[in-house]
Amino acid sequence: MPTRAVPASADTYHGQAEEILDGNIRVARIAGIDLLIHWSWFLIFGFLTYSLGADDGLYAEMFDWAARERYLIGAISAFLFFASVIAHELSHSLLALRLGIPVKSITIFIFGGVSALEREPDNARHEFWIAFVGPGMSFLLAAVFGVLWFLFAGTSTHIGAITGYLSLINVATGAFNLVPGYPLDGGRVLRSILWGLKRNLLVATRIAARVGTLTAYLLMAAGIFMFFSFGNIIGGIWLIFIGFFLKNASETSYEQLLLDQTLKGVTAGSLMNRTYESVPPDMALQELIDKHLFRTRFVAVMVETNLLGVITASDIKEVPQTEWETRSVYRTMTPREKLHVVQPTTPITEALQIMAEHDIHQVPVIATYDLLGFVTRGDVLRFIEFRANLRPPAQGEREQERGAEAPLS
Ligand SMILES: [Zn+2]
Repeated sequence: MPTRAVPASADTYHGQAEEILDGNIRVARIAGIDLLIHWSWFLIFGFLTYSLGADDGLYAEMFDWAARERYLIGAISAFLFFASVIAHELSHSLLALRLGIPVKSITIFIFGGVSALEREPDNARHEFWIAFVGPGMSFLLAAVFGVLWFLFAGTSTHIGAITGYLSLINVATGAFNLVPGYPLDGGRVLRSILWGLKRNLLVATRIAARVGTLTAYLLMAAGIFMFFSFGNIIGGIWLIFIGFFLKNASETSYEQLLLDQTLKGVTAGSLMNRTYESVPPDMALQELIDKHLFRTRFVAVMVETNLLGVITASDIKEVPQTEWETRSVYRTMTPREKLHVVQPTTPITEALQIMAEHDIHQVPVIATYDLLGFVTRGDVLRFIEFRANLRPPAQGEREQERGAEAPLS
């Protein structure tokens, strides 16, 4: 099967420091940034090497080499291509660091790279440069490899093949990432321009994300077209997958930002619920069930203001019913040291993350030893809804609202 399709490398970075991929291997640490390789990278490395070195691959068509030679040069080319992707990501990350944004990691995976910035840039200008420097690095690498090709292609066909390939694929990477679909680099550039013009990050993100989703559908359509019209099966499937990846990324990025903006500056202390049920540690389970657990999800086990643990219905499910009269709450609860607790000053987004990560519905808010209250998922969701209703509608929404009201008035 002809596999000359050169996969473009999509890359993105996000303002959230959460891990987006499982199965990463840490290979290095550069300027405090973890360089991670996702297992899917090995697939694309193998595929690229094969597509360059195979009997009907690119190098077989251009050079009169033995198979072993073709695969070796193919592997070196593929490896240097991924080194170029890392250089592209590093340029985003190092500039972000210089502009005061912590960077957690760079992950290389099947579609390219992701730099995990801990937060969004402070202003439109920073955003523009952090986004633009990546494709800029790809074009610079393309130029460097182009010069090397010019100097050495006549001397050695091996070096000529490698440098020529790297020059072209870096141009392709730079150009592809300048496509204005958020969260590709080009979409980030678009967002920074809109952000500068509209002075509203949320509105800018929504527009750029819509262009991103549209771009994703266009890529998928192009993939389907390639698949059927040119018989370029792998290239077609590749574009379809990149389209899916981009569509997901563009859709979730706006929602994530909305959530961050809604909850910005909100602390666990300000959203905590001070009314909760508490029982002494020596109470029997049966009494707990009869008097408390029928009306609340969880009960704090306390001595004065000290929290010893938390007990929920699922803790009791583990205990045989015959022991409910005799067994104490203390022996059944989840003890304090196993609980995930937050301080009153903990940002609510962090509390939400803890609840999501450990699949729990509430976290105690503690100051030194005293229990102050609980933050529950339900309370946070209600707050988000409340804020969302208060939020002044953006331009597009307002127009839609007017349109809807017109027939009634
Ligand atoms: Zn980039």
